[in-house]
Amino acid sequence: MDLASKVRLIKDFPKPGINFRDITTLLQDAGAFRQAVDELVELCKGLAVDVIACPEARGFVLGAPLAYAMGKGVVLLRKPGKLPGKTVCHSYELEYGSDALEVHEGAIQPGQKVLLVDDVLATGGTVAAAVELVKKSGGEVAGVAFLIELLGLDGREKLSGYPVVTLLQLE
Ligand code: AMP
Repeated sequence: MDLASKVRLIKDFPKPGINFRDITTLLQDAGAFRQAVDELVELCKGLAVDVIACPEARGFVLGAPLAYAMGKGVVLLRKPGKLPGKTVCHSYELEYGSDALEVHEGAIQPGQKVLLVDDVLATGGTVAAAVELVKKSGGEVAGVAFLIELLGLDGREKLSGYPVVTLLQLE
C-alpha cells in the first residue's frame, strides 16, 4: 500500500503558510496503520535499543505499538504540567510557536539506549528537546524514528551523529 497517499495535506493549518500533514487518515485505516508500524519496526531492527521514548500526542500513537512490537517499554515525553511526578524539562521552538517537554525523573535510567519516536520531523525542534531530555536523564540516544520527514525544513541537521529512520519523505 502507498502509505503517502493515506496522509492528508491540509494547507494553512494551524496558521497561514503551514502545510499540515494530517496522519489521522492513515491511523484510522487498519491496514495502513499496521503497515506503517511494521515497516518502522523493520527499519529500526539494526538499532540497539533498551527503551522507546515518544513525545505527546501523535508520538504516543506510533511509539507505543513500536515498543510493543519490539518488546520494549515506553517512556512518555509530555507537555508541562501533565506528568504527576518530579520531572526534567526542556524548552524548544516549533515550526509554529514554542513549547516545552518533560519526562519523569528516573524514567530513563543512566546508560539506557533510547529510541525516540515521533510522527513528523519538521524543523527538528521537538526531537532536539527530546534528545536533551534523554541526555539530562543520563541516557543515550540509540536512534530517532519518524513516520514522515518533511524535506526542506532541515530537521535532520539537528540530529547529526544519530541514526535517523524515516518511513515517508515528503516535500
Ligand atoms: P518540529 O519540532 O518542527 O520538528 O515539529 C515536529 C512536531 O510538530 C511533530 O510532533 C508534529 O506532530 C508537529 N508538526 C510540525 N510541523 C508539522 C506539519 N507541517 N505537519 C504535521 N505535523 C507537524
